[in-house]
Amino acid sequence: MIYGKYKNARNATWQCLIDYKVDTLPVSVLNIANSAGIKVIKNSDVRCLLPKESGISVINENQWYIIYNDSCTHQRCRFTIAHELGHIFLGHELKKKGHHTQTFKSTETFAEQEANIFASRLLAPACVIWALNLQTPSQIAAICDISFTAAKYRSERMGILYSRNRFLSNPLEREVYNNFKKFIQEHSST
Ligand SMILES: [Zn+2]
Repeated sequence: MIYGKYKNARNATWQCLIDYKVDTLPVSVLNIANSAGIKVIKNSDVRCLLPKESGISVINENQWYIIYNDSCTHQRCRFTIAHELGHIFLGHELKKKGHHTQTFKSTETFAEQEANIFASRLLAPACVIWALNLQTPSQIAAICDISFTAAKYRSERMGILYSRNRFLSNPLEREVYNNFKKFIQEHSST
């Protein structure tokens, strides 16, 4: 049962990167979903998203589905899937609807923020960006395969983390870093 897999939101993305043996960028959200037994479906195949929705997660008889708006850019789609993985892994509150089919309460802003933070950290892990000394949104966008907008948020956050300079102080982050070591060596500029 993957729903609510990670109790600790702060450590969730590190645990996810470790559990799914992620060791390169860009992070494959589809590989993570596959390994977790979550089915990822294009909205163009099922047409069940509302016009404003970029993605939803649905559980039906213990099977999770992520439906994403595939008319968005490739990078937006990646972020949407990562965001939905966040809702599922973090065990966000489900809407009371029917006996079997359930989805998340989209009005819950805290959960939305938390899922966005999860997605951002999953697709652009701070310790890897730091190790590669990436500074600009363009650099981050290119290597993480995320939108410029998402990369801009991440680079602002990285600015704070760079000034704090406490990378690798958490054992989980050290484990992520060790898994990425080969990738970091191969992608470090001189
Ligand atoms: Zn959401």
